[in-house]
Amino acid sequence: MMTAQLIDGKLISAQIKEEAAKEAAQIKAKGVNPCLVVVLVGNDSASQVYVNNKKKACEAVGIRSVSYELGADTTEEELLHLVAQLNADEAVHGILVQMPLPMQINEEKVILAIDAKKDVDCFHPMNVGLLHTGGNGFLPCTPAGIIELIKRSGHTIQGQNCVIIGRSNIVGKPVAMLLMQENGTVTICHSKTRNLAEVCLGADIIVSATGKVNTVTADMVKAGAVVIDVGMNRNEAGKLCGDVDFDKVKEIAGAITPVPGGVGPMTIAMLMKNCLVAAKMQNNLM
Ligand code: NDP
Repeated sequence: MMTAQLIDGKLISAQIKEEAAKEAAQIKAKGVNPCLVVVLVGNDSASQVYVNNKKKACEAVGIRSVSYELGADTTEEELLHLVAQLNADEAVHGILVQMPLPMQINEEKVILAIDAKKDVDCFHPMNVGLLHTGGNGFLPCTPAGIIELIKRSGHTIQGQNCVIIGRSNIVGKPVAMLLMQENGTVTICHSKTRNLAEVCLGADIIVSATGKVNTVTADMVKAGAVVIDVGMNRNEAGKLCGDVDFDKVKEIAGAITPVPGGVGPMTIAMLMKNCLVAAKMQNNLM
């Protein structure tokens, strides 16, 4: 029986961060000090871990990071006021407001308030639009990380049948757009898709982003297919796992990402790249 190539997200993200560090040094040599501001509202423990990881990555790459930790009772007005100040501050190139936000704050309003040129998460409708029209701008972090994982592990996207399971705004839809721009033939599936297994069996590349354990089982995968697992779930034993039945699928797939250590580390690496894009765009260094 065949065992799939393991696509190592830790290794590939480390390569990307190393490249970003070299680029950050070049930007600094031109007199610009790239800076990311991360805003955390409330005390969600998962968000705190994400924010700390972002800080560490900034330090490793050589990007100045500033964080604002606001109380859970922060009002929408107070947060919007801070965003306006950061928008106006020329020393700040990237602004990231960690989601989810407490109930009293409208997330959409906050996303709209961030200057699109500083929107390193690529959530602002202007940047989402630019992504769809193929224009230059930021790339959404997790989807762009998925493309890098596929390409840097030696796989071609052009002409391949790509099946995405999940149609969210942060993963499914943008990953579909990026795979299409790479000349893949894209099918998007969701909870109302009929015959998901049959659709998946036609795929050369499967990207699963449902947040449901065992969405992809061995009988759904064609021999040799590339399987990218975006899901972050807990199994019955409380252990972190993805959407894919990893142990069985790896016997059939040609390549597969583990969870943890696959897509996860790529998101922050791509965020670092977006911060540098922001610093360059705002200083006419593109
Ligand atoms: P959402 O809950 O927003 O979207 C899930 C999507 O999966 C929906 O489109 C839903 O369909 C679809 N879906 C759910 N169950 C099924 C099913 N049984 N069959 C087919 N489709 C199904 O999730 P996100 O996109 O935000 O995240 C998905 C997963 O990826 C989560 O586990 C999340 O934690 C993880 N994630 C990981 C990241 C990383 O950096 N590694 C970053 C972002 C997310 P419908 O639209 O019909 O409801």
